[in-house]
Amino acid sequence: MTDLAIAPAPPLPPGEALARASLIGLDRDQLAEALRPLGVPERQLRMRGRQLWSWLYVRGHTDFAAMTDIGKELRGELGRAFSLSRPEIVTEQVSEDGTRKWLLRLADGREVETVYIPEEDRGTLCISSQVGCTLTCSFCHTGTQKLVRNLTAGEIVGQVMLARDRIADWPEAVPDDPRGLPATDRKITNVVLMGMGEPLFNFDNVRDACAIIADGEGLSISKRRITLSTSGVVPEIPRWGAEAGTMLAISLHAVRDELRDELVPINKRWPIQDLLNACRAYPGLSNARRITFEYVMLKGVNDSVADAKALVKLLAKIPAKINLIPFNPWPGAPYECSDWEQIEKFAEVVNSAGYASPVRSPRGRDIMAACGQLKSASVKQRASERLPTPA
Ligand code: SAH
Ligand code: SF4
Repeated sequence: MTDLAIAPAPPLPPGEALARASLIGLDRDQLAEALRPLGVPERQLRMRGRQLWSWLYVRGHTDFAAMTDIGKELRGELGRAFSLSRPEIVTEQVSEDGTRKWLLRLADGREVETVYIPEEDRGTLCISSQVGCTLTCSFCHTGTQKLVRNLTAGEIVGQVMLARDRIADWPEAVPDDPRGLPATDRKITNVVLMGMGEPLFNFDNVRDACAIIADGEGLSISKRRITLSTSGVVPEIPRWGAEAGTMLAISLHAVRDELRDELVPINKRWPIQDLLNACRAYPGLSNARRITFEYVMLKGVNDSVADAKALVKLLAKIPAKINLIPFNPWPGAPYECSDWEQIEKFAEVVNSAGYASPVRSPRGRDIMAACGQLKSASVKQRASERLPTPA
């Protein structure tokens, strides 16, 4: 593991950092409105808003001075009133398998994590929707974090933009950029809301952020390549389908209510059948647009062959993918990962029911970047307590 500490940006003059709001996260109309107090004439607002949009989200510029189609005077005004800053990087870690994890500091000092997972045919960015999580799933590290607040739309979009900065994934990035990744086409092809937080508890901000991320004349990661993962906030699922329409993943993890109540306590409020009914009604659901069911493999808890059979039976009439996730341990976790043999037995039942390649390989375990290991540094375990790197 390489643990690169990134030097912080030079400090701004006193007062300036607070005075200048970041434009990141604003849509075209909001950008136009932001220009109004700067004295931009009414008839120019829309056009100027569009220009800004393009500099921000198509080209990823971080400096108003480079925006050559905007007059020098207005550029100066913009620079005095606003910033284009992304969340600040506290640390960047690069795993042996290429996974990168950023610990980010937000304007109020709170911290979240973002993870980039490069694979042969895709690059997936896993983003956070909240600082911490109000839910307390018993196998999840994030759920043990006390501090919780919703991220703003800007803080959510900012994670994508920062990742693009760090891996030189903007159209004008030079091919031999020192940031290390080979020059390919777009490097971030998919976004998953599987970082810290329950995204459906931060519905509006996550929806607005997804609209910006998916905009075809902007960051351009289409809705079909964005997946929201939820622990099962049932009443918000149809609304998410109608208002955001991304792909959906459900953290199922158990096939009986009694066990799911324990693993995913929100199940007490909305049990399995209610959750599956919401899934059946999800807009656009078809064999081409399946719902992903996530199932964490916990040794001796939910990993029997009988559980596997019950799982395929439960999902029989729903266009579904099943993702078996080897449990990623964290210090003090009350579970162990199922033995590989048992995972294979479980997977065999799932495979023979017609579900392809279901085991998700753990990525970035050496830097605690794998599913459910995210917990920001304010309360993070000391480096000495970190897990040994798996062979
Ligand atoms: N809160 C949302 C999204 C973030 S969690 C949700 O629960 O769906 C992303 C995924 O990681 C979920 O499927 C979650 O159940 C899983 N997960 C949490 N802790 C884990 C762990 N220790 N090992 C493996 N997967 C875990
Ligand atoms: Fe929150 Fe998801 Fe972790 Fe549950 S699994 S505590 S919902 S982040």
